[in-house]
Amino acid sequence: MNISIETKIKSLLRDAEAEALIITDPFNMRYLSGFSGGEGALFLAGEERILITDSRYTEAAGKESSFTVVEENRKHPRMQIFRECLEKTGAGRVGYEDQSLRCSEFDRMRESLPENLEWIPLKGLVDRCRRIKSEEEIELIAKAEAIGDAAFLEILKILQPGMTELEAAAELEYQMRKAGAGGFSFDTIMASGKNSSMPHAVPSEKKLEEGDFITMDFGCTWKGYCSDMTRTVVLGEADEKQREIYRVVLDAQEAALSVIRAGLTGAEVDKVARDLIKEAGYGDCFGHGLGHSVGLYIHEEPRLSPSGLDVLECGMLETVEPGIYVPGFGGVRIEDLVVVTETGCRNLTSSPKCLIEL
Ligand code: ZN
Ligand code: ZN
Repeated sequence: MNISIETKIKSLLRDAEAEALIITDPFNMRYLSGFSGGEGALFLAGEERILITDSRYTEAAGKESSFTVVEENRKHPRMQIFRECLEKTGAGRVGYEDQSLRCSEFDRMRESLPENLEWIPLKGLVDRCRRIKSEEEIELIAKAEAIGDAAFLEILKILQPGMTELEAAAELEYQMRKAGAGGFSFDTIMASGKNSSMPHAVPSEKKLEEGDFITMDFGCTWKGYCSDMTRTVVLGEADEKQREIYRVVLDAQEAALSVIRAGLTGAEVDKVARDLIKEAGYGDCFGHGLGHSVGLYIHEEPRLSPSGLDVLECGMLETVEPGIYVPGFGGVRIEDLVVVTETGCRNLTSSPKCLIEL
């Protein structure tokens, strides 16, 4: 039994003023129980720790989790298991994950379970307790980020004119897999030339050409935890405008990295990078927020953005990823992943940031 998680479950029950919690979000299930399958539900009440899943996962669940695994099937469906759990524990106030549970699923629970239950929406309470990472979690994310760094050094040797963005993305993913990645944090972005002005471009049949900016935004998972990084390089020699844009983005990123620390809000950190980009005349070319948190899921709270009012705390992870995107020309984004500390941050990304001309 993981003692710190056990403490968190008790405080979740207390904070929600609930007698039982039904957890259905796959990432929250994993966080609280250790079960990685994602299919099923948790029932938590008093000392009761029940993990409900089907026969595809019961064996793995038993190995990964210290919770009592109960198999759901046609003869013993999930609603019946919930009813038995409720009867056994006598719970009447039940917390549910309103932010991720489907309406149809919630309707089914309300219709199938006793009428006198009081349903309490958890309003992201579990996500909130995932914000500050433990040392163990930070180590897993650092390992995932190191795999990304290793893959980046390899892809630099592979990129060449004539290769399509799709081929280049496949190569980058292959390099991450070869370095030990369990999976990918999100679909790899490999945007070249004019396509790089779209912050979330999808890799296409377009061939890489001499003089292209190539923006690579990629991440992998290690034991479920995500990495995230972006690097932009130039294929061949950079021109003046490319150099200028790159320098502004890098300056903005380094300025934000030099101020980020516990006690500031996400908006305060965002402003440092945004002001610098604005002063350089590219204010309209940076539309997205400066960064986001990362964990079991790729985009977690709190965010670094103009509306980020949450105060950063030690042990939170944040990406710092300013960008300048000029339609018809191209774009640059540089993204590192850092751990927020009392006095600053610890950067988990080690790939070079000087302008690389391949
Ligand atoms: Zn990214
Ligand atoms: Zn990111």
